[in-house]
Amino acid sequence: MSISIKETIKCPACSEQSELTVWQSVTVADSPDLKADLLKGKLNMFTCGACGQKALFPSPILYADDEKKLVISFSPQEDGAKKLEVFEEIKKSSKKSGELKNYPDYNLRFVTSYNELLEKILIFDSGFSDKVIEVIKLLVLMQDSEKMAQRTCMFGKSDGSEIEFLVQDKRENQLYTSRVPLSTYETLKTQLKNSGVKYKSFDWEMVDRAYAETLLRGANNIL
Ligand SMILES: [Zn+2]
Repeated sequence: MSISIKETIKCPACSEQSELTVWQSVTVADSPDLKADLLKGKLNMFTCGACGQKALFPSPILYADDEKKLVISFSPQEDGAKKLEVFEEIKKSSKKSGELKNYPDYNLRFVTSYNELLEKILIFDSGFSDKVIEVIKLLVLMQDSEKMAQRTCMFGKSDGSEIEFLVQDKRENQLYTSRVPLSTYETLKTQLKNSGVKYKSFDWEMVDRAYAETLLRGANNIL
């Protein structure tokens, strides 16, 4: 069930107060409209009635898509150390409550940014595994290893024969697209499976760049 609360928010720019409906839980089967708002970046987004200032209300969201067997726990957090702390807390409380039994064969993901949340939804909606996609994103960045630190790579879309990735270079202020054949995805998916990667979760997982780096370090036979 989708759950919301009302919050009174003080505008960070002009201090005017306004009300916002803050969604804490989005269940796709009950609320396709909320999913659409989320994908448009509108969910929990505050717009000041007086000055027009926009800001994301930093509330955690639990996103559940039972048809795709996907549950994403979004907990806004920028601090790396704090991120791990929150992740450990979520794992501990899930274990204690026994709720993991409700998610057999699901993919359970923990993310800390709104963009990451949207990207995960797009990846699973396109029928891909984010574990393979994260490895490909890293391989795309590794093609220009000198610029890796200043670049990020995001999943874009797939047209059935290729997958498009968006590479953003923060220093050069440039956006590139990089295309990878679908056959590369399929080959990599099999190789990762053979080296022990599971395409369902037994607990909450953080599948990000660090995850892909760990996988590549441990699986030299892939490269
Ligand atoms: Zn304002």
